[in-house]
This record gives sequence, structure tokens and C-alpha cells, in this order.
Amino acid sequence: MKHYDKIYINGQWVPARGEKVIPVINPANETAFADVRSASAEDVEAAVAAAKAAFPAFSQTSITERIALLEKLLAAYERRRGDFSAALTEEMGAPKTLSETGQTGLGVAHIQATIDALKNMAQDIQRGTTSIEYEAAGVAALITPWNWPINQVFTKAASAIAAGCTMVLKPSQVSPIDAILFTELIDEVGFPKGVFNLVTGDGVVIGRQLSLHPDVDVVSFTGSTRAGREISRDAAETIKVVHLELGGKSPNVILDDADFEAAVSNGVHACFSNAGQSCSVATRMIVPRSKLAEVNEIAKRVAETYVVGDPTKEETTMGPLVNERQFKIVQGYIEKGIAEGATLLTGGPGRPAGLDKGYFTKPTVFTDVDPKSTIAQEEIFGPVLSIIAYDTVDEAIEIANDSIYGLAGVVQSRDREKALKVARKIRAGHVYINHLFGEYANVPFGGWKQSGTGYEHADFGIRGFQLVKSILGANA
Ligand code: NAD
Repeated sequence: MKHYDKIYINGQWVPARGEKVIPVINPANETAFADVRSASAEDVEAAVAAAKAAFPAFSQTSITERIALLEKLLAAYERRRGDFSAALTEEMGAPKTLSETGQTGLGVAHIQATIDALKNMAQDIQRGTTSIEYEAAGVAALITPWNWPINQVFTKAASAIAAGCTMVLKPSQVSPIDAILFTELIDEVGFPKGVFNLVTGDGVVIGRQLSLHPDVDVVSFTGSTRAGREISRDAAETIKVVHLELGGKSPNVILDDADFEAAVSNGVHACFSNAGQSCSVATRMIVPRSKLAEVNEIAKRVAETYVVGDPTKEETTMGPLVNERQFKIVQGYIEKGIAEGATLLTGGPGRPAGLDKGYFTKPTVFTDVDPKSTIAQEEIFGPVLSIIAYDTVDEAIEIANDSIYGLAGVVQSRDREKALKVARKIRAGHVYINHLFGEYANVPFGGWKQSGTGYEHADFGIRGFQLVKSILGANA
């Protein structure tokens, strides 16, 4: 059992002074393998004060200096990436094959995309006699979730560093270990004191203290829509810049000319990746009614290829859900789907056969799902796919947009122009045509509607940590 009882303030590891010790549970065996002591209110004060004190000097560093820091961070990460993936599998159950690739790979992609953006971005705009300049926005609170724990830390921290902000990170109490490892990199690289600070603990206590704090200028948050609302209300007290990356219920519209074997199979894999615990994956597969039987056959067959089990094994393609709470929520939705009359194609309630311990869930596909039903409307955050039939493309678009969320979407067709027309009608921050991920870390990522406000990644992410100043008469 490892005990993490230190936090990082003003360039030093110091004892956390909170009373609460939070166990970190391996969801594959339901056993605590570590615990993390929470920061106290005084610790949070000290972290914000350190970030505030470091801001005047760090915000004035040159782009070259910040690029050098990011390059050193990247090199340090690449040396220790194996530690991150092992920790990630243990703390949130992602299969080894995903932790070693996508989960930790995005860390590299985000730093690299941020460095490239910083090299190419304009620092100012000259308009007549006016100089319009981008300046670092101040002290940033970075509040991150458990599901892609290192991805969000990297994208937020890299953007904030690039912009010249100083920061306090509060990772999820459910999977905090990767953020602690990240802080070890910051320490190793030798960031100026106070630029990066780490505090641990619960969202409603430590996270809240940050979003209410008068010396925090920016809150960059990824997590649930519930917490996003609370953070917005708290941050409104002092009119902070707030970015929210929240929940989703993304549509996957398959047009009638698609390659159905590929489209359905990719759709199932995307939905089930990370055991369905990804905000932007398409969990509503919207298909032509005339193709429903074919779609059902493919989806069932693909879902049943999943190997659910020990996430440290090479052959495992789906690990457990992150914790008991999430397990119960997902079980509740599966039961609700059945009760509301959707047809269960495969999966269903309970654990997969032979897995009595661990928060393992059956990869579940429902078909004939009513687009107004609970499982078609609410974010489940587990391996549950809803197939919904449509009669016309206009109806498909209507179903796709019938959601409080607008994070992402997918359109699949053999005809790119046809797919583009539909993509342009989907009310969401990003749409994938035929599941092409392309330049993911280089393009803006952000939700519409109740999926959030603001954008992350590369230049869009950096701009989120900057303010604009117009100096009139600068060129007179
Ligand atoms: P969560 O909202 O419970 O917690 C996220 C973080 O916020 C944690 O660090 C938590 O401690 C903190 N927090 C909770 N309540 C808070 C409050 N009132 N004030 C300040 N901080 C608070 O979310 P989660 O369960 O960790 O993550 C799952 C959710 O995150 C899902 O809804 C998912 O869709 C969403 N998510 C969104 C994105 C995106 O980019 N849009 C990415 C990943 C996850």
C-alpha cells in the first residue's frame, strides 16, 4: 500500500495537512492499493498564493523559454511513460493496451501540438494605430476528471504554461496518481517556483475553494455537467474566465450508402473504448430503418468479441468501470433500458460470467431504442450502445440534435460531400466523418449546449488562457 501524503507548492513537495485520507481503489479487484491525503484549506491558500506570486515573472517569460520548458517536459514524460500507463491501469482500470497507447499517447500529442502552435501563433495584431496583444490571463485552477486522467492534465497544463499562466491542479480524487507523477516531471524539469502547484482532495471541498477563490482568474474544468454548473455559479462571484468540458451523448449518424460492416463495427469499438467512459464517443447509433436488421447483426457480433477482464493482461479489450458508484449507475441504466421497452441485443444486467469481483460490466447493445427514452437522452458513461432507427435523413439529423448535449458527432457515408452536409447540421463542437481521428490534438475540442464552453488543444487551448488587450495609439 502506497501512501501519498505530499502535495506540491511553490516548487516543493510539502506534507498535505487535510484530515481526510482518500483510498485509491483498483477497480479490477476492489482493493485499495494506495491512499492520498487531502490538502487542507490552508494548503489551497498557500498554493494559490504561490501561483499568484510567480505570475508576474512567469507571464513575462519569452515564447522561447516556455517552448524550452515544454520540450524538457516532453522528454521527461517520454522517459517515464511506462510508469504513467501502469498507474493508470491500476487506478482506473483501463486495459494495458489502451493505457500504453491512447491514454498516455495523448500526453505526448498535446505537448507536441502545443509547442507547434506556440511556434506559429501571432502574439499580437496590428490594426492601424492600435496594437492588439494577447496576455496571460493570470492564475489558473485546473480541475480534472478520472476517465482520461492524464490527457486532461496534459492539455490544460500545456496550454496554461504556453500562455504564461501559473496554475494549481486539482485532479480527480478517484484517480489522482497520474497527476502526482506528472508533478514529479514538473519538479524534475525545474519549472520556476510557484508556476505549477498540486493540491489533492474532493471536488466539493478543494475544487470549490479554487473556483470561489478571488485570486484565481481562470477555471479550466473537465468533468460532469453537474459539477460544471456548480463551478460556473461559484466562479461567477468573482467573474472568472471559465472553460467547461462536460458530458456528452453524441450521435453516430450512419447514412444509407455507408460501408455498414466498417461503420457499425467502428461505432461499437468507439463506444466501448475505455469501457464507455469517454465523454465524446458516440453512444447513439442512428441508422436507416431499412438497414436495422443488418446493423443489429453486426453490432451484436462485434460487441460479443470483447474480452472483458483483468486490465493488465494483453488479451483484455475491456477493463472494469472505475468504481462501485459508476458500476451501480450503469447497471441502473441497463435495467431502465429494459424497463422502458428497448430490445436488448447483447449484454444486460450483472457482471460477465466468471467475473465475480471487480466492477466489470457486460458490453451491452440495445436496439429499437426510442429517441426520447432515458437511455437515449442521458449520459450513461459505461459500455452501453443505443441503436435508433430513422426513416429520412432530416429525421436522423433531428434525432441527432435532440439532446441537451453537443460535444461531438459522427457521420458515416461513402460519399464525403453527403456526409459533410449532414456534419454541418449537427449541433456539436466536433464531428468525425467515418471515424477519422486525424489531427485530434491539433484541432479545437469543446462542447456546445450543456457539453460546455470554451475550447482546448493547441492554439485554441492556449488562447483560452489569454486575455486580449488593445493598446490604442501604440503605433501613432
Ligand atoms: P466530476 O464532475 O464528478 O469530477 C470532475 C472533477 O471535478 C474532479 O476533480 C472533482 O473532484 C471535481 N469536482 C466535483 N464537483 C466539484 C465542484 N462542485 N467544484 C469544483 N470541483 C468539483 O466528473 P468525473 O466523474 O470525474 O468525470 C466524468 C464526467 O466528466 C462525465 O460526465 C464526462 O462526460 C465528463 N468528461 C468530459 C470531458 C470533456 O472533455 N468534455 C472529458 C472527460 C470527461
